[in-house]
Amino acid sequence: MAKKFDLCVIGAGPGGYVSAIRASQLGLKVAIVEANHLGGICLNWGCIPTKALLRSSEINHLLYNLDAFGFSAEKIKFDFTKIIERSRAVSKKLSTGIASLMKKNKIEVFDGYAKFLNANKISISKDDKIIDEIEAQYFVIATGARARIVKGLEPDGQDIWTYREAMTAKELPKSLLVVGSGAIGVEFASFYRNMGSEVILIEMAENILPVEDEEISKLARKSFEKQGIKILTSASLKSFKKSKEGVIANIEIAGKTQEIVTQKVIMAIGIVANVENLGLENAKVKVEQGRIETDKYMCTSQANIFAIGDVAGAPWLAHKASHEGVVSAEKIASLMNKYDSKKVHSIKKENVPGCTYSMPQIASIGLTEKKAKEAGRSIKVGRFPYLANGKAIAMGETEGLIKVIFDEKTSELLGAHMFGAEVTEMIQGFVIAKQAELTEEDLMQTIFAHPTMSEMMHEAVLDAYGKVVHI
Ligand SMILES: Cc1cc2nc3c(=O)[nH]c(=O)nc-3n(C[C@H](O)[C@H](O)[C@H](O)COP(=O)(O)OP(=O)(O)OC[C@H]3O[C@@H](n4cnc5c(N)ncnc54)[C@H](O)[C@@H]3O)c2cc1C
Repeated sequence: MAKKFDLCVIGAGPGGYVSAIRASQLGLKVAIVEANHLGGICLNWGCIPTKALLRSSEINHLLYNLDAFGFSAEKIKFDFTKIIERSRAVSKKLSTGIASLMKKNKIEVFDGYAKFLNANKISISKDDKIIDEIEAQYFVIATGARARIVKGLEPDGQDIWTYREAMTAKELPKSLLVVGSGAIGVEFASFYRNMGSEVILIEMAENILPVEDEEISKLARKSFEKQGIKILTSASLKSFKKSKEGVIANIEIAGKTQEIVTQKVIMAIGIVANVENLGLENAKVKVEQGRIETDKYMCTSQANIFAIGDVAGAPWLAHKASHEGVVSAEKIASLMNKYDSKKVHSIKKENVPGCTYSMPQIASIGLTEKKAKEAGRSIKVGRFPYLANGKAIAMGETEGLIKVIFDEKTSELLGAHMFGAEVTEMIQGFVIAKQAELTEEDLMQTIFAHPTMSEMMHEAVLDAYGKVVHI
């Protein structure tokens, strides 16, 4: 007999588990089905383990630059296995924490693979055997995404890696080709370079980090090149073959081909949504351009089924998935008369920040300068360099720039783009400003603590209006 719930969430990543918790808080009887590990890609194979690795490479970098701070050390060594083990332990700790959260919120967890039998019923299987069935009034699909694999350029898990092998490597590769310079590719390039690998980063687009503001992406490129990362843009990988020397990659740049030989290759060329083998056709849920189509409350083409996170499309970020989890849960609760429908909000994609945790970091929100101009907005741009900030100089972090873009007529903050130490923490100031629709006056009248790096955010706004103080 099928077990009955108000809501069944499929997938326990940052989208699914947050949706389940919010629905339970609102009084719904909730089940969650997870085929692998609680916490999804984010906690187990994405955001968290990569940040643990990047912390190790940051420490390695600092150790090699002790002299600047008056220290010296001899025989600096690291144990690569321990670095990987620490990253895995951090993931495991957080995944176990999600199990406690499910228990605390009285959410029943089902360990298995969910498939729709119809719009109100799923089967759950384990090792190809059906072990349970669930009937629910509502469903939230939060099945996430996986690495994009191109025919002919398939990773083999040995020498040609996806992000999974890249974060569980047995030893530090001497040389590495990273294909794709989005956040994932750049973070791995930064980690391995700071640990001592020779790194080549290639990107099909004209600039690395192609979604970022051009000025910021050019600054980042210059900095990474100074650190020894070789970067090739407008370059595409055509084929590779394995040899005794390593992997020979055939790269096309401006119509000419060139061979690059490295010990390992990381393929970081994007992700695809997990929409297959879910029985979506049985539930009449529409898939458009490889993702589940939804309205602004994350409702699919089937009125009782919602889809959130990576499976519902870009931006493929954990905080966007979690926020959509809240939106879907509140909408469903309102449909069940358990939440005030007037309070249900939708997500504003333009207010989703994006961060790259390389060294230095990149963080942004809203329109780039180019996009703002293409949208026909007349703009005011302000900039402030790290070199002129007291805290940055005291910290020995003088590389970076804060850039803000305002609408000249309305004073609306259109975008903020940052490159430098700690920008992934600072961006939240601009996210709040943008969400609250603060104007340049509000930001200029805000008092920023001294000495902090966030003072640069203030100065960048002042610069846009000709009032900058420290340059
Ligand atoms: C290397 C890497 C680094 C990243 N770093 C960041 C970062 O720093 N910041 C950031 O915001 N984002 C980052 N991301 C992206 C982030 O991980 C994803 O955006 C986020 O995990 C999406 O959450 P989700 O809930 O939609 O799906 P997921 O986290 O992918 O979770 C989906 C879950 O559903 C389960 N599942 C799938 N199908 C079924 C089924 N039929 N039945 C039951 N269970 C199923 C899967 O096992 C999985 O656990 C990174 C990604 C990668 C790969």
